[in-house]
Amino acid sequence: MNKIVLANEGVFPITKDKEGQMLGSIPATGMKTAGTIQGEGKLAGVPSLFIRLAGCNLRCMWTLPDGSFCRCDTPYASFEAEQDLQLEEEDIFALVKHNIGNLSHVVLTGGEPMLQHKHLAVLAQRLKKELNLHLSIETNGTIFADDVAQHIDLFSISPKLSNSNPSPKKLATYGLKQNGPLTYHAEKRRNIEVLQKHINFCNASGKELQLKFVVGQPNDYVEIKEDFLAHLKNWNPADILLMPLGATPEELKTTSNMVAEMAISNGWRYAPRLHIDLFGPKAGV
Ligand code: SF4
Repeated sequence: MNKIVLANEGVFPITKDKEGQMLGSIPATGMKTAGTIQGEGKLAGVPSLFIRLAGCNLRCMWTLPDGSFCRCDTPYASFEAEQDLQLEEEDIFALVKHNIGNLSHVVLTGGEPMLQHKHLAVLAQRLKKELNLHLSIETNGTIFADDVAQHIDLFSISPKLSNSNPSPKKLATYGLKQNGPLTYHAEKRRNIEVLQKHINFCNASGKELQLKFVVGQPNDYVEIKEDFLAHLKNWNPADILLMPLGATPEELKTTSNMVAEMAISNGWRYAPRLHIDLFGPKAGV
């Protein structure tokens, strides 16, 4: 049994079930077709199907420039991942096969998908071998798993800055108590050894990589340079992306221009959140 635990969105957006029969309702995108666009990173705009795995080893809670807080934009896959969906690898494969249509890109996301690397590797291998799909994995860069890595085309790694630490004030605002990942987030979020493994693996195998930093404070560039890039070797400046913090159009307005300026002045790439422009802060899009 190869069960993979998915967030409630599962494989999305889809129009057919695992038998290939039409579903009774249209996807959350409001479109009649399966698939959406990749909203973030180097492949922004590329039509894609997503598979969202449940569970995360981190608990991101950020401070916006105006001092307000915003947390992980997929709390149902991290903070509240208990309402999940357990599917056989075979059934996930069937959902992709019946919904892939003219798309060629599948994104494995979370949560932190590498937490389930053993079963995910079986699925990734079949998606590559039997359907010849381009696979991206969206990961926080704290776990490297060779069994999954060999089937991935693009590693979209989002290392977390100290602004994501769940401080006592943030916990009190959200009515949360220190436990599990909320306790060790600050200690685990930065793993230079694992980031270097990803870089080395991609350099040796010719696979694509992006280091996509979520930026919410004007001085975040110092931390990116001094706490991350200065400790890493053989990375390419074209692979450094800055993405504005914010899960809603209103939150993005407070960060986008500041982040664009930071990207330009450092020679890094600005990464939009196109799905929020198109669909707003909805799940399943
Ligand atoms: S690492 Fe990603 S999925 Fe996990 S809590 Fe942070 S933003 Fe959410």
